[in-house]
Amino acid sequence: MPINKVTATINLKHLRHNLLRVKELAPDCKVVSVIKANAYGHGLFFVAEALHESDSFAVARFEEALLLRRHLSNKKIDKTIFILEGVSSIEEYDQCLAQNMIPIIHCLEQFKNLLCFFNRQKLNKQSDHKLSYWLKVDTGMHRLGLLEDDFKFLLEQLKLLNPKYLPSGILSHFSCADEKENPFNHKQLIQFKRFCSELSGIEKRVEINKSMANSAAILAMPESYFDWVRPGIMLYGVSPFETAKEMRSGLDEQLKPVMTLSSELIAIQQLKKGDCIGYGAQWCCPEDMTIGVIAIGYGDGYPRHAEAGTPVLIQGIEVPLIGRVSMDMISVDLRALEKQSADINIGDKVILWGHGLPIEKISQKSGTIAYELLCQITQRVSFKYE
Ligand SMILES: *Cc1c(COP(=O)(O)O)cnc(C)c1O
Repeated sequence: MPINKVTATINLKHLRHNLLRVKELAPDCKVVSVIKANAYGHGLFFVAEALHESDSFAVARFEEALLLRRHLSNKKIDKTIFILEGVSSIEEYDQCLAQNMIPIIHCLEQFKNLLCFFNRQKLNKQSDHKLSYWLKVDTGMHRLGLLEDDFKFLLEQLKLLNPKYLPSGILSHFSCADEKENPFNHKQLIQFKRFCSELSGIEKRVEINKSMANSAAILAMPESYFDWVRPGIMLYGVSPFETAKEMRSGLDEQLKPVMTLSSELIAIQQLKKGDCIGYGAQWCCPEDMTIGVIAIGYGDGYPRHAEAGTPVLIQGIEVPLIGRVSMDMISVDLRALEKQSADINIGDKVILWGHGLPIEKISQKSGTIAYELLCQITQRVSFKYE
């Protein structure tokens, strides 16, 4: 079978290096590796196996957790799986208990189902097998999580339960942790501690785990570590601070890029001054010049909004994108390579991001974040693990 021109090469050693970096920063914490959305586009199963030294895994949805559990069981990896959005029926709680998955309760609706589940367990005299669950509180993100009043109501209900039905942990999520100086981070921390002390007030005998920190907080806010940290993007070698004024990449945080997206040069054209390139004829040659055409486009997940000047790496030299991104191709200005008297040929390998070219440079030029670029690689691209 011919090798696909467009390849996403996933460096599992770098993935493990990045997990070690998390453990170096937060040596006293448990680590739940966040591998939702197909491990940020890197491939759920390969990534989970490579990260088997995490204390646990987290995905967003129940369906993702089921898939992951089936794979981990085959590989004899017995780690808990957090379901960040929680589950929506009593039957799904049954599954969580049977399959060692930890649902998160972020609203009263889910809590009601959980109480029904506990009652049914009692009736069936299965109550010695304990379901572990966590509570999610809203400290300002206003996406998922219990607000103050609902939380108080829930605490009243918890007081009536046997301590073995109490939650194993409590978590919340930062909305601005990628902005180190934003005072909102501190406000969320204070609010989180308030929730935590209310919870520990109701039952002192059980230990309740706390978790707040995503990648940005792991890198910039040690005061937010608590018991468990929840790294996502940093595991993949990407800086969460890319929106900062000065461009930062994962390398600045001693992280190593995990995905390298590569393709090939499929045409070289000698064009005349004034010739225009691609759809919309938006970019015109300022002089007679050589351009290259590369087999990559938005049909592969390369961002259509990448602007002229977005760098592409050929023979270790950055050359700029010119004209609009098409479905299957982009064009680049090869003058910088010619100045170096490089020997340029059709079939030459091109790196779109990853090794030697931080993905943060591409997301910045495309009006998006690296998270999105990683998640939107399409089916057409071959994945290679090394
Ligand atoms: C996605 C997610 C994370 C990881 O966030 P990163 O910014 O990728 O580190 C952590 N916690 C929750 C609740 C999440 O949804």
